[in-house]
Amino acid sequence: MRCIICKEIKEQEEFNEEHVFPDSIGGTLTQYNVCIICNSRLGHDVDTHLVNHFLVKIKRMIYRIPGKSGEIPNIFKKGYLKGDMEQEMRLEFDSVGNSKGVYMQPEKQFNVLADGSGNLHYRVDLKDKARLPGMVNKTLKRNGFPVMESAEILRRAVETREPAPEMIIEASADLIEYKRAILKIAYELSHYWIGENYFNDPNGEIIRKILIAKNFTDAKINKIGSINEGISLDLYKRLKQGGDFHMAVLIKDGNKIYCEIQIFDCMEGTIIVSNNAERYPDFVNRFISINPVTGEKLESTLTDAFKRLAGERV
Ligand SMILES: [Zn+2]
Repeated sequence: MRCIICKEIKEQEEFNEEHVFPDSIGGTLTQYNVCIICNSRLGHDVDTHLVNHFLVKIKRMIYRIPGKSGEIPNIFKKGYLKGDMEQEMRLEFDSVGNSKGVYMQPEKQFNVLADGSGNLHYRVDLKDKARLPGMVNKTLKRNGFPVMESAEILRRAVETREPAPEMIIEASADLIEYKRAILKIAYELSHYWIGENYFNDPNGEIIRKILIAKNFTDAKINKIGSINEGISLDLYKRLKQGGDFHMAVLIKDGNKIYCEIQIFDCMEGTIIVSNNAERYPDFVNRFISINPVTGEKLESTLTDAFKRLAGERV
């Protein structure tokens, strides 16, 4: 069997399950034509940039789709209190994504004055009240001051409330690397739908080389298509039954075969997967949509997808 990424011929047991759309975005379409080595490399170097893209993380958080570690992403893991950038805070969630509320990170101010006396001020979340004496005494001890009775520390504590805390988060979004992951989906779908014949397609080769290259630049993609952050066109939204689903179509126009891909409603790509459609006389246009929450797939010809849209039973 030949791996579609490294093109080496390997034994059956050297292949494992490859998710065409990454598992961590709820992609349930799988195939077995990528070798274990390539599969794991694609995971590290390619898929990760899509799965951890800020826009995708927001979606994964909303839909509670865990990553490989089993953890649901939390984009509010690190932020600051509006009006007090010294005060770190976060929103906490349990393992299934239910909110546990706001948590203020302990904040300490400690000054030793010229006369040798000290000034210690701690600000902690109410959830940490029981830990406060331990924190205070640790600081005192470390700086050579006598420790205090826990009750005395708690007696001096003043409880204040932040009635409507606002959180500032810093977000940075990768604008390039995630595109390669979308290219990978187009390449694998072409193999999935066109079959073995796609192996030596010149455009397929261009894509394959981009996928295995050490460095990746946007310019390479521009030759064969465009990939952008964006909102779904109305037509695609309707094809996706209005859901915030993943979707792909493979469609022929003259001698070109296009793969149109949508990741949730936040990214889309149009890739020319072939300039040699004459190589595939049996080509039929294709459609797939995947519900990222339930994993449910709807796969058909694109023609049938349009018929369904028009209310025909197919
Ligand atoms: Zn391989």
